[in-house]
Amino acid sequence: MRVIVTGGAGFIGSALVRYLILDKGYDVLTIDALTYAGCEASLKVVEGRNNHRFLQANICDRAAMEMAIADFRPDRIMHLAAESHVDRSITGAADFIQTNVVGTFTLLEAARGYWNGLDADAKAAFRFLHVSTDEVYGSLGDEGLFEETTPYDPSSPYSASKAASDHLAKAWERTYGMPIVVSNCSNNYGPYHFPEKLIPLTILNALAGKPLPVYGKGDNVRDWLYVDDHARALDIIIEKGRVGETYNVGGRNERRNIDVVRRICAVLDELLPGDAPRENLIEFVTDRPGHDARYAIDATKLENELGWRAAENFDTGIEKTVRWYLENEWWWGPLRERYDGQRLGLSFAKA
Ligand code: NAD
Repeated sequence: MRVIVTGGAGFIGSALVRYLILDKGYDVLTIDALTYAGCEASLKVVEGRNNHRFLQANICDRAAMEMAIADFRPDRIMHLAAESHVDRSITGAADFIQTNVVGTFTLLEAARGYWNGLDADAKAAFRFLHVSTDEVYGSLGDEGLFEETTPYDPSSPYSASKAASDHLAKAWERTYGMPIVVSNCSNNYGPYHFPEKLIPLTILNALAGKPLPVYGKGDNVRDWLYVDDHARALDIIIEKGRVGETYNVGGRNERRNIDVVRRICAVLDELLPGDAPRENLIEFVTDRPGHDARYAIDATKLENELGWRAAENFDTGIEKTVRWYLENEWWWGPLRERYDGQRLGLSFAKA
């Protein structure tokens, strides 16, 4: 199996590349522009393997995408490259429109040219998986779950750009008959997560004795999925999912942000007892504009139709994640140094 993974130096993309190479033995071409969020060190364990190649290229570069696809001749393309941080999309949406919308369009067109040139059998067997987020569905109240049929209602420039890219992927399937599948997943956590996101930020700030910023009152609910469960789901969806369909991915692990932060503090207090409980470092900060109240995924279709189940529950997953950060400063240390303070978007106004 020959697979192209875009965004493979990112958090989820690198988990996917590691899984496809180490567990499945596939030939993988990682394409990544290595933006601030891309990190080659996340692929260190597959470095030098003869079934992995890495290409530093921008998905908006049509010629580069056409050349890479024609040269590698993939059976599958798994598209994860994106600008992914909601806070950054609020202060600078242009990169999000460029990569998530224009980049997805460019990649779809390059893939379509290649797919059109395949013989009938290869054409039927080829798959393109567009990887997206549950944030396209907007916000839930206290009840209910996002289903594949939930109408799109994005709140942030990030989720709006991902919604646009989902529509492009679906249109390329309906209009051109390309074998495309779309997945929408809830919030991921786990190793190699860039330190600007809530869970790694909390772990690393708590370790450094710095304030732990929590938006509003910390009541916002997210449905957390361990990243390796997501990687496995993506492989199952592209392998067995029906063309033209959407599959929601989620671990049925709903947590309020404040409870996530408290849980991390408790795990750290247990592993590395300090003078005072790390919960004392929590600081409530002015809420994010347009902050969605609750996300929760109904993954029944993926579970029943394709037989996927999340393996990790949140309590064990968060402990594994905290331990990973404690043991892997070689990975996050240089990132923290390079992108501290403002440049990481970590300067929160106090509430
Ligand atoms: P990430 O920010 O960690 O990684 C994105 C990767 O894409 C980086 O390596 C970056 O260098 C690369 N990239 C960015 N712009 C590029 C461009 N123009 N050309 C080539 N490469 C480019 O993101 P992530 O959290 O790993 O998310 C991966 C995908 O999964 C995204 O499409 C995201 O929308 C989706 N998703 C993320 C989550 C989550 O909780 N993180 C949940 C559901 C879906």
